[in-house]
Amino acid sequence: MAANSERPQSPAPGAPAAAPRRKAGRHRGEGQWAMGHFTPLNGNEQVKKDDNGLNVRTRIETTYSKTGFDTIDPADLRGRMRWWGLYTQRKPGIDGGKTAILEPEELDDSYFMMRVRIDGGRLTTEQLRVIGEISQEFARGTADITDRQNIQFHWIRIEDVPEIWRRLEAVGLSSTEACGDTPRTILGSPVAGIAEDEIIDGSWAIDEIHRRYIGDPAYSNLPRKFKTAVSGSPLLDVVHEINDVAFVGVRHPEHGPGFDVWVGGGLSTNPKLGVRLGAWVPLEEVPDVFGGVISIFRDYGYRRLRNRARLKYLLADWGAEKFRQVLEDEYLKRGLTDGPGPEQPVERWRDHVGVHRQRDGRYYVGFAPRVGRVDGATLTKISELAQKHGSGRLRTTAEQKMIILDVARDRVDSLVAGLEALELQVNPSTFRRGTMACTGIEFCKLAIVETKARGAALIDELERRLPDFDEPLTININGCPNACARIQVADIGLKGQLVTDSDGNQVEGYQVHLGGALGLEAGFGRKVRGLKVTSAELPDYVERLLTRFQDQRTDGERFAQ
Ligand code: SF4
Repeated sequence: MAANSERPQSPAPGAPAAAPRRKAGRHRGEGQWAMGHFTPLNGNEQVKKDDNGLNVRTRIETTYSKTGFDTIDPADLRGRMRWWGLYTQRKPGIDGGKTAILEPEELDDSYFMMRVRIDGGRLTTEQLRVIGEISQEFARGTADITDRQNIQFHWIRIEDVPEIWRRLEAVGLSSTEACGDTPRTILGSPVAGIAEDEIIDGSWAIDEIHRRYIGDPAYSNLPRKFKTAVSGSPLLDVVHEINDVAFVGVRHPEHGPGFDVWVGGGLSTNPKLGVRLGAWVPLEEVPDVFGGVISIFRDYGYRRLRNRARLKYLLADWGAEKFRQVLEDEYLKRGLTDGPGPEQPVERWRDHVGVHRQRDGRYYVGFAPRVGRVDGATLTKISELAQKHGSGRLRTTAEQKMIILDVARDRVDSLVAGLEALELQVNPSTFRRGTMACTGIEFCKLAIVETKARGAALIDELERRLPDFDEPLTININGCPNACARIQVADIGLKGQLVTDSDGNQVEGYQVHLGGALGLEAGFGRKVRGLKVTSAELPDYVERLLTRFQDQRTDGERFAQ
């Protein structure tokens, strides 16, 4: 039975009271709907109660796009527009030292970032062509591939938003719930349905979750964002450990291929790895279990403090056993089957970069832009290359990379040459392959430092200085203490902040975290006490670190060990 089939009436716009009400007790102050606490306890909850975020679309189409930026209601501008993937971008020229001291409106530019959701990272050449055109016509050529398989535009004017939506939706794309307190883009294995070693193809479940839950007002007022991942790849290629709910392909000894359920992962300021519920779910039941987990979050999630509102806090209080019990008893109305966990992948790279054989005998070709940065003209050319060499299918990855599918053996070399002519490497250096960066101060209002350009320059410098370094390695760069580029689970995590240089000046720099990892050996990097580097010192610091590692490592030792 689908968890959403039992939805009761909403107590507020888009706020269904799905679960039985319990006696208010210890959590009285957390604003949990399931305990009967519907009175908003902070400004964000009030905005969501006043009007469901999804409703802002009508105002954008009928009013704001005609009357202009200055007429946008502030509650829409800094709140509800996120439900349609729109954030104001940072006003150019404001340095990182002002980020924390200025009011939000002082940081707001009159242009927007728009995030296009690409569930499962699946794109057609036609969709990519349209994204490339939108980028060039409306976004000054910008287009970044994010580490959640989305594509983001910048410099979007409110006047152009309805036309952009029209073009996206004409080819089956959208920005619906790409941001906001909603079920965000569903990560999926970029090689679902084609990989030779695949345990199970989760694509149907991703489509069904999208069909049932995305854009449904019943699930559009969550305590905070809700991140989902589905992958049947043994490479564990969707960072399942740091999603609110994840379905990871496993083989049950009696029932065969299905998914192991993980809940409560998330990074940011108080990072937690997801935990297993110990439950095995067949493909056709994944959407129901998703519905149960997101409903628990909606009904029991903490709404008093934004920084305690992610599912990970509820899970920390309940534990996996109680979570599973509530899921089974109150939402699914049946028990789940116990099952095994995934195995540690042999391969350390999870990004599918390179030339790989598909199970149908054709090939897929994964390639690496620098730190996810491409542009509209390049995307259009990638679309043309994919059309010429493949069957019209592409994928984005959770490592800011892309893949072209379905390439015949005798077309691979021509495709690789075409990509490399666009500076998109199929056999990149460790540094190009393993470095990710968030949006940073160029556009992000929360940023303290530059990230994308800094990451690209770091790659170039390390390639020049350490041409023979070929150890798998991840260098993740954030522009602030948030975790958009997953610094806590990188070999070298760089958290942007202002630091003091040798002359006593406050300059851009990074707090260094070392030794984070994902997979079955997942853990957070150690914050190296007092270790902060200025941006200018960064290449020297990383070079020293890696040279020392090369000189001192024992046989088979990895950087993270
Ligand atoms: Fe912005 Fe910080 Fe996220 Fe980077 S990590 S995109 S600077 S909020």
